[in-house]
Amino acid sequence: MKFTPEKYKIEDRSQEVFIDEGEIWEILNNARPDKQKVRDIISKSLSKSRLSLYDTAVLLKSEDPDLVEEIKEGARKLKEQVYGKRIVLFAPLYVGNYCINNCRYCGFRSTNKSQLRTTLTVEELINQVEALEDAGHKRLILVYGEHPRYNADFIYETVKIVYNVKKWRGEIRRVNINAAPLDIDGFRRVKEAGIGTYQIFQETYHKETYNYFHPSGPKKYFDWRLTALDRAQEAGIDDVGIGALFGLYDWRFEVMGLLRHVNHLEAVYNVGPHTISFPRLQNASGIERNRLMPVSDDEFIRMVAILRLAVPYTGLILTAREPAHIRNQLLTFGVSQIDGGTNIEIGGYTRDNNGQNLDLEQFEINDNRPLSDVIDELIRQGLLPSFCTSCYRTGRTGEHFMEFSVPGFIKRFCQPNAILTLAEYLEDYAPADVKEKGYQLIDKEIRQMDNENFKQNLLQKLELIKSGKRDLYY
Ligand code: SAM
Ligand code: SF4
Repeated sequence: MKFTPEKYKIEDRSQEVFIDEGEIWEILNNARPDKQKVRDIISKSLSKSRLSLYDTAVLLKSEDPDLVEEIKEGARKLKEQVYGKRIVLFAPLYVGNYCINNCRYCGFRSTNKSQLRTTLTVEELINQVEALEDAGHKRLILVYGEHPRYNADFIYETVKIVYNVKKWRGEIRRVNINAAPLDIDGFRRVKEAGIGTYQIFQETYHKETYNYFHPSGPKKYFDWRLTALDRAQEAGIDDVGIGALFGLYDWRFEVMGLLRHVNHLEAVYNVGPHTISFPRLQNASGIERNRLMPVSDDEFIRMVAILRLAVPYTGLILTAREPAHIRNQLLTFGVSQIDGGTNIEIGGYTRDNNGQNLDLEQFEINDNRPLSDVIDELIRQGLLPSFCTSCYRTGRTGEHFMEFSVPGFIKRFCQPNAILTLAEYLEDYAPADVKEKGYQLIDKEIRQMDNENFKQNLLQKLELIKSGKRDLYY
C-alpha cells in the first residue's frame, strides 16, 4: 500500500502536535457530497487505496439515506474482499482502578468517592489470568488507571506475571496494554516485557473539549497525550493502537482526527497504527452528563462503515461496551477484533455475578455473554473465531507487517492460523455442541482452499492438534 501524503498546514515531525482544528473544519465544511463523488470514493477504497481527509469528509457529510446505504454496502464489500471471515478474540483485564485524573466521564475519576479502589495483588492477578485461560483466552489487554504506582516498572512486572501463568494447556500468548502515556524510557521498559500493542485513546481531538473533560491530573495535557505514540515509536514500540471516545464532541470531527493521526504516524514512522478503537460513551458511576454529545446507533453504524472505507487495512476493535445486536451488525463492516466473555470489574473474572457493579468498574458494559456464547454465535454467522498471536511472535509487526499485501496476507497467514487456534479452543475448552459446529466450519473453510499442498500441510497440523500438540502456526 502506497502512502501519498497530503499537504497539511502543520508538517509532521516526531513528537510535535499535528492536529489543526481549523484545517479539519475547513475540509469538513468544504466537502460537498453527490452521488458520483461518493461512488468514486467507495471505488477508490475498494481498489485498496486509503482515503484522503477530503474523501473521508465527503462520506461523513453524506446524509441522503440512499448514499448512506451505498456507504454501508461499500464497507460490507470491502470486508468480504479484504478480511474474509476471521474475527480475532481477546479479553480486557483491569489491573487497578486508582487514578489521579478526573476525566468527567469515567468511573475511576479521582473525585468519584463511591468507586472502591483496589489493585490486584500478584496472587489475584494470577487467579484472574487462570480464569481467563480456563475460558480459552490467549490474548489479553491489560488496563490500568493513571497513578504513580502504575509506572513503567509496575506495568513491566504485571505483563511478565501474566505471560508466566500457565494452567493446564492454557497460556496467554499476547499481552497488549491500555495505559497512561509514558516517556520514552518508560515505553522502552514496557517493550522489554514483550508487549503486543500499546494502546492509548486521545478521547477527543478537539482541544477545548479535551481541556473541559480533563480538568486536572497529568491527563490535562492534550499535547503530551497526542504525542504519546510518537514516543512509543521512538522507544521501538512499532505496534500501536489509537482511539477516540465517541460522545464527547462532534463524531465527524473525531473521525477526521483519527485519520489525521494515522497520516501523522505513517508520515513520520512509515507505519500506521495497528488498530483503531472507537469506544462509545457508556454510563459510569460519577459521570457528569452536561456537554456530552451522544452518538446515536444510526450515526455510530455509519461512522464505523466510513472508518472501514477510510483505512481499508487497519484493524478495527469493537468492545463489549456495545450490545450484541450492534456488534453483530458491525462485524459485517470489517471490525477485525472483539472482546468476548468480558468482565471489567476489578477481580471480576473469579466472581460469580455477571459483572455489573458500577462501583468496581470504569463504565457499564452491554454484552455480558460468556466467551463460549460469543464463539457459538460467530460460528453460526459463518465467521471464524481466531486466537492467533502469530504475527508479533514471528516479527511481522510495524513496517514488516505493512510490506504484505493484506488480502494475500490474510489468506496465507490469518485464515489458517485462525483455523489452528480455533481447533485448539474446540479441543480444550468448547462445550460439545460448539465443538461440533466449529469443526463443521473448519471443514468447510478447508474445502474451499485452492492450494492443495498448503491444504495438506494444514490438515497435518490439525491432526497434530487433535493428538495434543499445541501452538502451531504459520
Ligand atoms: N487510564 C488510562 C487512560 O485514561 O489512558 C487507561 C485507559 S481507560 C482505563 C480506557 C478507556 O476507557 C479510556 O481511554 C476511555 O476512552 C474509555 N472510557 C472511559 N470512560 C468511559 C465511559 N464512561 N464509557 C466508555 N468508555 C470509557
Ligand atoms: Fe483515570 Fe483513565 Fe478513567 Fe481518566 S479515563 S479517570 S485517566 S482511568
